[in-house]
Amino acid sequence: MVVGLVDVVEKAGLLRDRFFGEITYCRNVFVPVTNVCRNSCGYCGFCGGEYYLMSPSEVYDVLVEGVRGGAVEALFTFGERPEEAGCGFSRILGEYGYGSFTDYLVDLFEMALDLGLLPHTNPGLVSKSDFKLYSRYNASMGLMLESTATLPVHEGCPGKAPEKRIELIEFAGQEKIPLTTGILVGVGETWLDRLKSLRKIKEIDDRYGHIQEVIIQGHNKHRLAETQHPSVDEEVVVKTIAIARHILKDIEIQAPPNLHPDIKPLLTAGISDLGGISTTKDHINPSKEWPTPNQLKEKIDQHGYILKERLPIYPEYIEKGWVSKHVKKNLDKNNEI
Ligand code: SF4
Repeated sequence: MVVGLVDVVEKAGLLRDRFFGEITYCRNVFVPVTNVCRNSCGYCGFCGGEYYLMSPSEVYDVLVEGVRGGAVEALFTFGERPEEAGCGFSRILGEYGYGSFTDYLVDLFEMALDLGLLPHTNPGLVSKSDFKLYSRYNASMGLMLESTATLPVHEGCPGKAPEKRIELIEFAGQEKIPLTTGILVGVGETWLDRLKSLRKIKEIDDRYGHIQEVIIQGHNKHRLAETQHPSVDEEVVVKTIAIARHILKDIEIQAPPNLHPDIKPLLTAGISDLGGISTTKDHINPSKEWPTPNQLKEKIDQHGYILKERLPIYPEYIEKGWVSKHVKKNLDKNNEI
């Protein structure tokens, strides 16, 4: 263990207490639109198996299930630029009556908005024009930095070029789009890479002020035998969270509770947010069930913290007016949260 690290972890928790009075989460419904992706990351557990593209009626059913379960956020996740994957994706899209995935997504976002939900989308490295278009229908957007390092697990992945992801994260700032980003831990990066990645995020946020939360995502080996990387040690994730808190200061730091059944070390290390708690399953980590909000509350209470539900956009961005007209009407409906 690095000398003085216990101290670093404990001080990170105190730093969190200085900036945040509550531990937050968001009730969401997870919509895994398609598992077709142009990349082939060495740790991916989402894109295996038979290719699929959810039909409009399948998406509708999932969204309605989410609304019935109390979801506020519709979390849209899908493979990056599936039309470039070269597996007949455009043909399936055509069967649903669409000539482009962009048009299809916009209709799905409108469907979610019509049901009173607030979309949040992780589109991957799409064009700036698509990113901007999607943001008009989303309360906030997501784009993981993952790492500033060029890693062997990203070989043959055009969407994982760090400089291109940084450019799109900066673009979101220029366009005043509230953004969730984050880093991956345990996919071949070094401690120095983690530090550089976190510092880059802080530097960008200092310039634009649009990073609403940073996910520290430990790699978790799960359902697919072909996933090449072993799960990262919990201790490494905890240390990374603590270091992130020291670097990011008052930016929300998130770690998903279904990947960390023992929440105490995360709290000690300075997390302030637990991310989306889905009413449906985690399609990225399908073997890891989410706790219910009540279970989560019990766990958080035990450690003397207060759990609070939040929207997929943080209050400061609503106050700044970083909200499109499509999203605003649903924010007004959900303003009691
Ligand atoms: S970009 Fe995401 S969905 Fe695509 S291969 Fe990589 S991890 Fe899987």
